[in-house]
Amino acid sequence: MRATTGTVTTGGFETPAKGEPYLLTPGPLTTSFAVKQAMLRDWGSWDGDFRAMTADMRRRLLALTGDTRGEFDCVPMQGSGSFCVEAMLGSFVPRDGKLLVLANGAYGLRAASTMQYLNRAYTLIDKGDYLPPRGDEVAAALDADRSITHVIAIHCETSSGILNPVAEISQAVYAKGRKLLVDSMSAFGAVALDVNEIRYEAMVSSANKCIEGVPGFGFVIAKKSELEAAKGRSHSLSLDVHAQWATMEKTGQWRFTPPTHVVAAFLEALRMHEAEGGVEARGARYRRNRDVMVEGMRGLGFETLLSERWLSPIIVTFFCPADENFVFERFYELMKEKGFIIYPGKLTAVESFRIGCIGRMDEHVMRRVVQAAKESLAQMDVKDAAPPRAALAERAKLAA
Ligand SMILES: *Cc1c(COP(=O)(O)O)cnc(C)c1O
Repeated sequence: MRATTGTVTTGGFETPAKGEPYLLTPGPLTTSFAVKQAMLRDWGSWDGDFRAMTADMRRRLLALTGDTRGEFDCVPMQGSGSFCVEAMLGSFVPRDGKLLVLANGAYGLRAASTMQYLNRAYTLIDKGDYLPPRGDEVAAALDADRSITHVIAIHCETSSGILNPVAEISQAVYAKGRKLLVDSMSAFGAVALDVNEIRYEAMVSSANKCIEGVPGFGFVIAKKSELEAAKGRSHSLSLDVHAQWATMEKTGQWRFTPPTHVVAAFLEALRMHEAEGGVEARGARYRRNRDVMVEGMRGLGFETLLSERWLSPIIVTFFCPADENFVFERFYELMKEKGFIIYPGKLTAVESFRIGCIGRMDEHVMRRVVQAAKESLAQMDVKDAAPPRAALAERAKLAA
């Protein structure tokens, strides 16, 4: 079927324009035509129309957290997701506070390095590449160091694709009378982070992940009491969450030039998210994407880094095959020729690559991804996609 937009639909979703690959990456990702089209006009940043768009966006985002008591508020911030993490840490961890960082990959370590830049006290539980930080470890760390005031958890650690047990972590944090901050960048919108089920003070996410917008800003969702308390605490003029919030509440405007087109695109993405059935339906589509893709890749002999229990519906890490004919750079190029951009791995110990499940695509596309992988292996003359023994030994640690 040929739509009026000149794009072809398969399985309900339009395909990217001719020659444009699918992005099997955790943001930027493949967006819908409607989202791209929403950017084809200009808005005045102080104009009533744009202020109404900002208000609508904040309201829609808050609704996704299940906050019915008006306890939380949403503060969009210009920049990529890391700007928001930095804004959150600088605004909610007091200058004389201390943060416990739960790391099991690049994003956890980035939060720690942000604290170093902020020159604020922190301590780190580093679980390596992919082991989850558990509630009992958090409790023990909080018992051992009374000066810790806050904990940051990474909801889905996108570097391995692990879905960290935030509910368990939250229970441990509040049982010890401390406060939780969540980097839900790559999970929010597809994995529930309902304030009625999981307690936290603030969380961050960004426009170009599971809501399926384009990059350009992120948002902080925080308790109003925390937003009030953040006054005068930030190290940074532009990353001051309280100041951005106070200005938005007073004038309906962003403090500095907003990414107007990105906001327009994001609003369209939020409407499509709602039309699809919200967090639950978005999560279900991504899980189906993952299941179809993982099953197909396993059928080719590939092995996932993580066991079923920790596999997120966001992105999946596969070991590179042991076969000496396998060269990742060539595999990447062959996949790209077939219309799929994949992602290199980020593990320290063994060679790996990642395939994202998020973005405007469904299981039909994932079947084509598997087919493309099969053909690419044949072109490289790789007979067996099984990983090296060392990789499996590494994975066995997970079960331990
Ligand atoms: C994407 C992401 C970020 C932010 O990365 P940016 O490149 O700054 O957008 C932070 N944390 C997690 C877990 C992410 O997936």
